[in-house]
Amino acid sequence: MRVMHVISVSGGKDSAATLLLAIARFGREYVIAIFCDTGNEHQVVYEYLDYLELALGIKITRLKANFDNEIANKRRFIARDQRTGRRHGRKLRWTNKAKRRALAVLQPTGNPFLDLCLWKGRFPSRKAQFCTEQLKRNPAVEFQMDLIDQGYKVVSWQGVRRDESLNRRRAKRFEDVGGGLYIYRPIVDWSARDVFDYCARHGIKPNPLYMQGMGRVGCMPCINARKNELREIGARFPEHVARIHEWEQLVGAASKRQASTFIPAPGITPVQAKEHGIYSIIEWSRTSRGGRQYDMLADLIDSDSCASSYGLCDSTSWEEVTA
Ligand code: SF4
Repeated sequence: MRVMHVISVSGGKDSAATLLLAIARFGREYVIAIFCDTGNEHQVVYEYLDYLELALGIKITRLKANFDNEIANKRRFIARDQRTGRRHGRKLRWTNKAKRRALAVLQPTGNPFLDLCLWKGRFPSRKAQFCTEQLKRNPAVEFQMDLIDQGYKVVSWQGVRRDESLNRRRAKRFEDVGGGLYIYRPIVDWSARDVFDYCARHGIKPNPLYMQGMGRVGCMPCINARKNELREIGARFPEHVARIHEWEQLVGAASKRQASTFIPAPGITPVQAKEHGIYSIIEWSRTSRGGRQYDMLADLIDSDSCASSYGLCDSTSWEEVTA
């Protein structure tokens, strides 16, 4: 049976190194690179994918989840819903006003992240991280299942490292999922430094976002972003904060409570949503420990300077790392 190696590329360093390894071991003919576009990406990620395609001589297939049917079903549901739910012991139902507001915004936008949240009437959270499954895992699995249906065995290469997080500390190098699907994690015991060094040895530059204060490359912002990352995003990429603010208005209007915030604040009212919206969170991210006092250093972040948490400290540091 023919074997195809599928590498999920995120625009970050780990998946770039994994793609390099796959090409080196099996050649471009047996390697397919895919990118699951969440629609909540920084423009630099798209540019970096273009760069990788040129540098590695391989096409990266862009995949996008689609929620048109789910949104159409939700429109129908809201239009005829008479049922009640409960919140804090009180009955909660779609009022006519909430229905009108929701139906006015519940239209597919073509942006997977926003459409997913419009459909769900909320943003994902750490406890309900449906974004990963719906926007990344499902499109990738669907793509790989298609290959299996075409008669291939599929090895899904994942750029996962054990020292990334507690969740990943037991990640296996190889798994036989069954049905012709295998998972391979070739850099599972590498450090971040190993990854950067490996890419550098092969002449692959890191995503410039690492030199702009981002510890990881993914959604801009990610719902799991740390306080310091949010502070950097607020200082360097205000246009993304403004976009998230717009999304909060739309997703809030599509929800039964008429309020939703990107960083979760469960059960809030529209009035409270203002205190928990993305602008308030960015403001909080500029405070020192305890959250009350503004950290004067935070005001000194220079949006052109480098603050990479991987030690690529300025525009020359990458050369230093690779020297
Ligand atoms: S990067 Fe963050 S926000 Fe984006 S899909 Fe993953 S967990 Fe969700």
